[in-house]
Amino acid sequence: MSNSVAPTPGAAVSQDRQWDRLMQMAEIGAIPGEGVNRACLTPLDREARRLLIGWAQAIGLSVSVDPIGNLFLRHEGSDPEAAPVLTGSHMDTQPNGGRFDGIWGVIAGLEAVQAIRESGTPIQRPIEIVAWTNEEGGRFAPGCMGSMAWSGDKPANTWDAVTDPQGVTFKQALLEHQQAEADLPRRTLGPAAGGPKPAFYLEAHIEQGPRLEAEEMDIGVVTGIQGSRWFVVELRGETAHAGTAPLGLRKDAVQDMIRAITALNALMTDPQDVLRFTVGRIEVSPNTSNSVADLVRFTIDFRHPDKDVLLMNGDAVENTVRGAVKHCEVTVTERFHALPVEFDAVVQNAVEDAATAQGLKTLRLPSGAFHDAQFMVPICPTGMLFVPCRKGISHNPAEYSSPEQLAAGARVLAAALAELANR
Ligand SMILES: [Zn+2]
Repeated sequence: MSNSVAPTPGAAVSQDRQWDRLMQMAEIGAIPGEGVNRACLTPLDREARRLLIGWAQAIGLSVSVDPIGNLFLRHEGSDPEAAPVLTGSHMDTQPNGGRFDGIWGVIAGLEAVQAIRESGTPIQRPIEIVAWTNEEGGRFAPGCMGSMAWSGDKPANTWDAVTDPQGVTFKQALLEHQQAEADLPRRTLGPAAGGPKPAFYLEAHIEQGPRLEAEEMDIGVVTGIQGSRWFVVELRGETAHAGTAPLGLRKDAVQDMIRAITALNALMTDPQDVLRFTVGRIEVSPNTSNSVADLVRFTIDFRHPDKDVLLMNGDAVENTVRGAVKHCEVTVTERFHALPVEFDAVVQNAVEDAATAQGLKTLRLPSGAFHDAQFMVPICPTGMLFVPCRKGISHNPAEYSSPEQLAAGARVLAAALAELANR
């Protein structure tokens, strides 16, 4: 073996190349404070995809897109008929997002595949890097549309009528996107269209939580993802003059909202502090200081790793609200429902073994945030690896992982992908 050839895929990972690509990507949609605002299916999204495609083609990967805009970059193995190993994440960001959430999983996939190629590591299965459409749900809600459609969790036309804040439908935005990428080869919608399933799915992501940093760990071996249920509660009362209407005659939507949230807090009490319950958005109408509110709409984001708790408490939300309010009409709508998933032991072990072999410290932990990987679990053995991020901050310009932390993650990803591609 010549000295210029790196002996392992991990050793062929380039910290500088990966960091440089991330910083180039961060310029597309840059916002003040080192943040990024790059919504899905926008010209900025397409610019980022073209940059990625250029890097992939320069090293000989083949490019294709599916009907919902998921983008695939393929490295051939020795057996082109073998089911591929799939890796990747998403390229869209939250409106006030950072430089690493999602995009690192895609760039790390490219870095890992490039390292496998440059090290001359023989692999049997093809490896495909995927960038899923609309993971964040920032422009079109909910998120994970690309992975949900691809896996067959929901039909691809489910969200056609969903609009962005400007009133553009998802269907229109997707059509425009497809026209702008008409030169790219098309592929079918994967397993959802009866296509072949991948052999494995492994997604790399920043932790988005504080544990790896606090416990001075290098790599998170993700054991699963907790379940999420999102609701919108609408309370309809009656508006009145704040100075004249007697309290006893009012149908005050804000007062009923307080009763409802107080009752929900009691429902969601968890001495172990495992349960996550958030009311993060409240709309009040008419929203003036001297009028009684006739309408309140508030969101509930409820998460738990235990399916039974998720179902029991989630199913109790509507009756809890109804039992608490005094005067208002109540409507409760469920907007998102994802059961908890557990990741595959083979994929977890591939990550752990790759990290340990490189002298890195690992921690097994569940994911509090949801990810595209959630929807791969019914399709094939699935797993994720995390790298630490500063103070656990994400969805914010302050989001940060160091070049060294991200390079360690890419080295583990490269070794684990090579291992899985020979299984
Ligand atoms: Zn993400």
